[in-house]
Amino acid sequence: MPAPNKSKPYPLSKLNDARELVEVRCAYCKRAHVYYATDLMQLFGDVDVDSLAGRMTCESVTGGHGLLHVERIFSGSREMVGRKIRRLVAIQIKRVPIWKEE
Ligand SMILES: [Zn+2]
Repeated sequence: MPAPNKSKPYPLSKLNDARELVEVRCAYCKRAHVYYATDLMQLFGDVDVDSLAGRMTCESVTGGHGLLHVERIFSGSREMVGRKIRRLVAIQIKRVPIWKEE
């Protein structure tokens, strides 16, 4: 659900051209991580950057802390100096058994 003051959607693929990263922060517990748009695209597809606020969840507690704060951040900016970027290592597929009595 986009905020009313938002302009048009900004797909993740656009960030690569602008050498921008995505910072996702939980306002509740102050956890923040910086991601590459390409890593996020592997999980969510080429979605609108702001929509990640509702697609991602804070990992501090099960179920998360509600909507996260998502911001575009230029990779060459001063605030990125010395900051770590969280990389996607693998995507695990969970095997969920479904049973039926016969
Ligand atoms: Zn949190």
